[in-house]
Amino acid sequence: MSPLQHGPTVPTGSPRQVAVIGAGMVGLSCAWFLQEAGVQVTVYERDSVGAGASWGNAGWLTPALTAPLPEPAVLRYGLRAVTSPRSPVYLPLRADRTLLRFLGGFVAHSTARRWRRGMAAYVPLNARALEAFDVLAAGGVMAPTHRATSFLACFRHEREAGHLRTELERIRDTGQDVRFDPITARQARALEPTLTDQVGAAVQLHGQRYLHPPEYVRSLALAVRARGGELVEGVDVATLQARMDGATVVTTTGEHQRHDAIVVATGAELGRLAGPFGVRQPVQAGRGYSFSVPVEQMPRGPLYFPAQRVACTPLGSRLRVAGMMEFRRPDEPLDPRRIAAVVDAVRPFLTAVDLDDRRNEWVGSRPCTPDGLPLAGATASPRVFVAGGHGMWGIVLGPLTGQLVAQTVLKGEAPPELAPLDPLR
Ligand SMILES: Cc1cc2nc3c(=O)[nH]c(=O)nc-3n(C[C@H](O)[C@H](O)[C@H](O)COP(=O)(O)OP(=O)(O)OC[C@H]3O[C@@H](n4cnc5c(N)ncnc54)[C@H](O)[C@@H]3O)c2cc1C
Repeated sequence: MSPLQHGPTVPTGSPRQVAVIGAGMVGLSCAWFLQEAGVQVTVYERDSVGAGASWGNAGWLTPALTAPLPEPAVLRYGLRAVTSPRSPVYLPLRADRTLLRFLGGFVAHSTARRWRRGMAAYVPLNARALEAFDVLAAGGVMAPTHRATSFLACFRHEREAGHLRTELERIRDTGQDVRFDPITARQARALEPTLTDQVGAAVQLHGQRYLHPPEYVRSLALAVRARGGELVEGVDVATLQARMDGATVVTTTGEHQRHDAIVVATGAELGRLAGPFGVRQPVQAGRGYSFSVPVEQMPRGPLYFPAQRVACTPLGSRLRVAGMMEFRRPDEPLDPRRIAAVVDAVRPFLTAVDLDDRRNEWVGSRPCTPDGLPLAGATASPRVFVAGGHGMWGIVLGPLTGQLVAQTVLKGEAPPELAPLDPLR
C-alpha cells in the first residue's frame, strides 16, 4: 500500500507530538523551534548527533555568500576538469540514476536567469539567517557564534580577485546585503601573518560570522534534551506511514512508533524517506573533505581560497581546512587523494601551519538539489514535512529553516519565504 493512504487533507488541530528524522543542524533546529511552541519532539538518528554533514563542515555563517550552486560559471569548468581526482570538483565517470537526474537538472539551472530566480528565493532567507542564531542563543543554546572581525578571500592573482568582486556585486544587485573591500596582498598579510607572499590580492568581507560545528550541534542537541525532547540515537528509520490521524516511523528493526506528524531531515539521504510522499527532486551527495592542523598563530578569522575552493576556519586551538566537491554516493569511503588535493591546493598560501600534522580527516555529504534551493515544507501528506537539501549552506540556514518549518507544521500553512522551497516543486 502507498504510504500516502488517505490523500492530502489538512488535519484539524496542531500536532502535539512530532518526530524529526535526522539529528543534524537542520533536524535539531526543527526540533528546537517546535519545542518553542510547546510541541513534544522525538528525534530519531541512525548514528549519533551530528554524524552527517553537520560535523566536519567549515562552520561559516556567511549570508553574503549564500547563493544557488548552479550558475553559468560552473559549466565553464568542463568535463575534463571534473573527472580528474585532483580537481576541486570531482565527478566519477560511473554515474548512477540519482546522479544523472541531478546533473541533468543542474545543467538546466545553470543559466543567468535561473540563478537570479534562485537568488530571489535566497535573499529573504539570508536577511533573517543570523537572527535565527540569536533566537537560539537567547533561548539557551550555549555554543557561541563568532563575529568575523577579519574574513579574507585570498588569491594568487589580482584577476581572480576581480572575478570574486564581480560575483559579489552580482549578488548585491539581487538585493542582498553584501559588504566587502578589495585589499592589497600586503594589507592581507598584515591582517593575517599566516598568509605567504604567494597571495597576490585579497577581498575582505564584512558582517559575517562562524561557529565550531561539532560544538554547536552538540549544544543544540543538549538544549533539545534539556527542554524535554527525546533524542534516540542508533535508530535507523526504514520507512514512514501516514494516515489521517498521524504518521508512523518504522525502524529497520521493525518497530513502529506513532506521532502526530513527522519532519524528514536526513540530509543527503532525504530522497529515500521523502520520495514516497511526492518529493521528486533528487538530492545528491556533494561530498566535501576536512581535517584540522596546528598553527603557530591562529588566523583572526576565516580564510577563503575561492580559486582552490578551500575554506579555513579557526576551531579552538586548531585550524580546520575544508574543501572539495565530489559527486559520489554518501556511503563510499573517504578517498585520501582528495585530502592530498586539498593540502596541495593551500600549501603555497599558508606559513607556520603544519599541513602534515592532520587530525580528524573527514568526508561528509552536502545535500545538493538540481536547482540549488533547499526543500522545506509540506509534502503530499499533511502529516509529513521535509527540511533539507541546503547543499553548501545548511549550517547558516539551518536554524531559520527550523523556525519556518516548525511554523508550517503548526499552522498547516507555509510562510511566504518557503514558497520557492516547496518540496513538491
Ligand atoms: C566540506 C564542507 C564544508 C561545508 N561548509 C559549510 C559552511 O561553512 N556553512 C554552511 O552553511 N554549510 C556548510 N556546509 C554544508 C552543511 O554542512 C550542510 O548543508 C548541512 O550540514 C546539512 O545539514 P542537515 O542537517 O540537512 O544534514 P546532516 O548534517 O547530514 O544530517 C542528517 C542526519 O540524518 C541522519 N540520517 C540519515 N538517514 C537516516 C535515517 N534513515 N534514519 C535516521 N537518521 C538518518 C544522518 O545520520 C545525519 O546525522 C559544508 C559541507 C561540507 C561537506
